[in-house]
Amino acid sequence: MKILVINTGSSSIKYQLFDMVAEEVLAMGLAEKIGEDPGKLTHKTMAKDGNHRKMVIEDLKIDHREGLEKITELLTDPEHGVIMDKSEISAVGHRVVHGGETFQAPMIIDEKVILEIKKNTPLAPLHNPANLTGIRVAMSIFPDASQVAVFDTAFHQTIPRKAYIYALPYFLYKKHRVRRYGFHGTSHAYVAERAAEYIGKPLSELNLITLHLGNGASMAAVKNGRCVDTSMGLTPLEGLVMGTRSGDMDPAIPFFLANHLNMSLDEIDGLLNKESGLKGISGANDMRVVLDGAEKGDDRSRLALEVYTYRIKKYIGAYVAVLGRIDALVFTGGIGENAPVIREECCKDLSCLNIEIDTGKNNLPEDCLRQISPSGSKVKVLVVPTNEELEIARETKRVVTNA
Ligand code: ADP
Repeated sequence: MKILVINTGSSSIKYQLFDMVAEEVLAMGLAEKIGEDPGKLTHKTMAKDGNHRKMVIEDLKIDHREGLEKITELLTDPEHGVIMDKSEISAVGHRVVHGGETFQAPMIIDEKVILEIKKNTPLAPLHNPANLTGIRVAMSIFPDASQVAVFDTAFHQTIPRKAYIYALPYFLYKKHRVRRYGFHGTSHAYVAERAAEYIGKPLSELNLITLHLGNGASMAAVKNGRCVDTSMGLTPLEGLVMGTRSGDMDPAIPFFLANHLNMSLDEIDGLLNKESGLKGISGANDMRVVLDGAEKGDDRSRLALEVYTYRIKKYIGAYVAVLGRIDALVFTGGIGENAPVIREECCKDLSCLNIEIDTGKNNLPEDCLRQISPSGSKVKVLVVPTNEELEIARETKRVVTNA
């Protein structure tokens, strides 16, 4: 069974084609700067003998439809393609950012599902319309394939109301659906499953704290395999310090900015989402640059790291309190997978919670699933490389085969 996973943004299409028999990636790529002149398409094919082929087309002017048509052309190219015909693709799995309260699991897409995704657009005004464009285009290019929507929010739909209700006038929830939703659900779900496989117990018997630390960052408290709390909220702005987002702060700060600095709502939105976080404190949003700056003695870079790891530590404490007991702490995302210093700082002095790191193991430059806590430790600290595309492909397969 071949499944195409696509993640459509307002000016990009990220894709991977899987052969689900061995869960192998046959080809992957990214069409970017869609709608611009020139756009760009990077396409890689993965040969079994390890002889990968990469192609970059830079003189494109494409819309989403033309982008996906070009991708299909490359996938089926008689010389370098990985499939003979597009009809070999049995299903297309779409990443959809906001499923609101409607979707607690992946869904086969029909007109009713499309309508519900549209209804959730006010909750994700930038993402859901782009995801819908991807769905429409894929439906017309692959009319015989099942189309499946996999929602970023779905994994968090199990959180109880005491964790998702904000202490605001209740009509805002009832009428306008203002509540905590949480994001990165596909990644949290994937690493939780992989952690359970590693530990050798069913996920339904495990309590985990999962930390997705990428450009965006979020944590989830997972009790008996089900998410019971998460750090992102109505939008991905809440919670941890991120590359350019502030995460938690006094909700009165926007009033201060408006009243004392005469900032408009749009300016405040831009400041909190694009100019804050690591970038706000240190000047750089890329963790590698911040780590480098700190090593060279730059005080703002050091401060950014302190604020970043302190916030995570507070959430670890809070989630241990929520869960009562934890079996494992799971790091993932570009930073969680690659920055030993960050993992070490987040777990420092947490032996009171049975959380300890083996420095030697933590510093090994590996890129596979690994344990970085001492063997025999009560709480396992794991690094689990995330794979959101594979998770979407698995969920898509599950839905279409009714498994
Ligand atoms: P996204 O959320 O866009 O998928 P990623 O999960 O790829 O992002 O994470 C991007 C972040 O990971 C960046 O801040 C980057 O600096 C950081 N990162 C990547 N590699 C390393 C590394 N070797 N050491 C420290 N940070 C890293």
